[in-house]
Amino acid sequence: MANLLLMITLITVLVYLLPSFAKSSESTKVITLPKSLNLTLLTDPSTISTASHDYGNVTTVTPGGVLCPSSSAEISRLLRYAANGETIFQVAARGQGHSLNGQASVSGGVVINMTCLADITVSEDKEYADVAGGTLWVDVLRETAEKGVSPVSWTDYLHISVGGTLSNAGIGGQVFRNGPQISNVLELDVITGKGETLACSPQLNLGLFYGVLGGLGQFGIISRARIVLNHAPKRAKWFKMLYSDFTAFTKDQESLISMDNDTGIDYVEGQLLMSNGIVDTSFFPPSDQSKVADLVKNHSIIYVLEVAKYYDDPTVPTTGQVIDKLTKTLSYLPGFISMHDVLYFDFLNRVQVEEDKLRSLALWEVPHPWLNLYVPKTQILDFHNGVVKDILLKQNSTSGVALFYPTNRNKWDNRMSAMIPDEDVFYVVGLLQAASSQNVQEVESVNEAIIRFCKDSGIKIKQYLMHFTRKEDWVEHFGSKWGAFSKRKDLFDPKKLLSPGQVIF
Ligand code: FAD
Repeated sequence: MANLLLMITLITVLVYLLPSFAKSSESTKVITLPKSLNLTLLTDPSTISTASHDYGNVTTVTPGGVLCPSSSAEISRLLRYAANGETIFQVAARGQGHSLNGQASVSGGVVINMTCLADITVSEDKEYADVAGGTLWVDVLRETAEKGVSPVSWTDYLHISVGGTLSNAGIGGQVFRNGPQISNVLELDVITGKGETLACSPQLNLGLFYGVLGGLGQFGIISRARIVLNHAPKRAKWFKMLYSDFTAFTKDQESLISMDNDTGIDYVEGQLLMSNGIVDTSFFPPSDQSKVADLVKNHSIIYVLEVAKYYDDPTVPTTGQVIDKLTKTLSYLPGFISMHDVLYFDFLNRVQVEEDKLRSLALWEVPHPWLNLYVPKTQILDFHNGVVKDILLKQNSTSGVALFYPTNRNKWDNRMSAMIPDEDVFYVVGLLQAASSQNVQEVESVNEAIIRFCKDSGIKIKQYLMHFTRKEDWVEHFGSKWGAFSKRKDLFDPKKLLSPGQVIF
């Protein structure tokens, strides 16, 4: 009887497992490297499955092997072999695989698990840290803050890799003042598609240096980055204020990002709360939470201004003066302001709390059809009316977070590969929706409708963390930089081996 039950269970398990096993074994072509290379590729189903998926959870791109390098020389050896060997395979560096559409994998090729090479060394004068490309930003923060120093520009989420964000831009609420993460790098070690290791900086191999920053992994693998450090403050006063009027909200955001270092604050972001979405009121004291929820219900959209002021010593008057000025001059809805006084580390690592919550509800590993856009300031009102009011608010429901904040163009170096709008101030709009396998296509069509609306109305957006599948979209995206971008590809990765998941070449 027990055996019969076991048989039935096994048959049931096999019936459920077989179709997916058959599907993945079909597309997996295991790569075998010559012994002389002295490199071990992992090909077990669990490693291959992890490397086939990413945070977006909408694609499966199955590699033929995964390298967990023990030194950057191993990466170089692999790339030399791929570039010169008879069997050509492509190669993708992978940080945490927090890409959205398979950008960190490679069909039938080799994924390099960069997190195998995490390492951080703070210089003696504490002006910079040399960080291995696979290091997570949260570890950089931990290690540097212990020594009283810190990088100056942060993404909202820190469990992503240094090489991964430098290949995109690395943006967040400090960009208006300090620029994106790619603006805060002094030099890099890069292993090109030919397997050469080149140090580069604004003084040395500058074509490679600027190409790699925001270069979507196309020219080389970042094995080391020298990151600018500054004093690490001890704490942050973290505010959220609510607005019902879009013009008042953006006017205040824009005035905050124009202030200088001494009189200003350290972090500016913003979000939208919409009546057809999940309204998270938890930042406000329990006694105010139903008032906040009612506000959203009554106005349909509420705008959240989020700012932070860092400090060391609460008795130093300037912090109080800045905050006083802030709270007295901004035109948020009277009474709708809340402040948390938190450790600097906890402020920067704040999304970890959300991750833990979502993981506990099994809602972290769901499809994420995110749309990230940069919108020029002069067109933000048209964008708001056409996209937020006429498209998003008209959906039966929205999910996830909608980020909405301005930043300054003068903190970006136009020699870098990253693309931004051609205006002094532009907005970061992150429509970070979570979906289910049932409604992911619906959300994707809303995203397409948004892009179409922008095109038809002449709103000159640039996409961030984008996924284009047509060459003409890439050519349009890079505009006047396309020529330099493709020339660099020919120079540094002539066999087009690197990061093919970006689908550029
Ligand atoms: P991966 O997804 O592993 O790789 C990204 C690309 O870079 C791939 O093409 C890969 O091949 C290439 N690559 C990876 N490592 C290297 C390397 N060492 N050298 C060369 N190429 C490499 N981004 C922001 O800018 N701001 C945010 O606030 C922000 N918040 C986020 C919040 C969450 C919850 C998540 C999931 C992502 C967020 N991101 C944000 C996006 C993040 O920047 C991207 O996911 C980015 O790709 C980094 O993730 P990763 O390290 O896992 O890189």
